[in-house]
Amino acid sequence: MTKGPLIFEGNEKQVFATDHPDQVIFRYKDVTVAYNNVKRARFKGKGALDNQISAILLDYLNRNGVETHFIELLGEKEQLCRKIEIIPLQVVVHNRIAGSLAARLGVEEGFRCPNTVLDLRYNNDELEDPFINRDHAVALGLATYQELDWMYNVARRVNELLVPLFHKAGIELVDMKIEFGRASDTGTIIISDEISPDTCRLWDEATGERMDKDRFRLDLSCVVENYRNVLNRLTEAIKKEE
Ligand code: 5GP
Repeated sequence: MTKGPLIFEGNEKQVFATDHPDQVIFRYKDVTVAYNNVKRARFKGKGALDNQISAILLDYLNRNGVETHFIELLGEKEQLCRKIEIIPLQVVVHNRIAGSLAARLGVEEGFRCPNTVLDLRYNNDELEDPFINRDHAVALGLATYQELDWMYNVARRVNELLVPLFHKAGIELVDMKIEFGRASDTGTIIISDEISPDTCRLWDEATGERMDKDRFRLDLSCVVENYRNVLNRLTEAIKKEE
């Protein structure tokens, strides 16, 4: 497999073509952005940590029957992925109510709810990723009702798999954002993008400390140190699984 030209440059990642028509290379950058790109910074080493954490989680999902775009880790900052056509939707899974949902519902940060709450957002920077419902998504031609059911079921399954995995690492998975795409090789809907401290809220079970992008959003210190801690603990948790 040979690395080809850059085909997409995002804030936090680059995507390169390869000589395989259905495979691309994701390169994770050290840049981090928040609040719809209003806040931006560079943290040396963050890209490598996100790449490795995402590789562990996506590989774990692949091995447990949830198809993702991840194929293999190529190096510190790069992973080989299946090519997809992006579905511009985000399914957000909440095990507790925190962040923007806590503000929207008027409950305290970390409100414990009896159920798992799923939200749908339209991935659109200009509109600031608004919350939408299934009818909106179908109206915009983004997915069919059947495909939305599939994505919701997969998101629930991802949560069922990752909550216990993080728990083994002494980390509570408070919420996470999941994205999907249509695989160019099979046409099926699979998990795309990343699952990492950039896309999840992760709280230390022992101390309640935040170990995710909220450290950057809320101007807390030690962003990279916390991401490294997540990687180290997940690496140990995965070893125990095997
Ligand atoms: P909130 O709605 O509180 O901003 O986010 C809920 C959860 O989804 C958090 O774990 C957050 O990291 C993730 N999330 C939601 N939207 C985005 C987004 O546009 N980019 C990233 N990286 N994560 C998001």
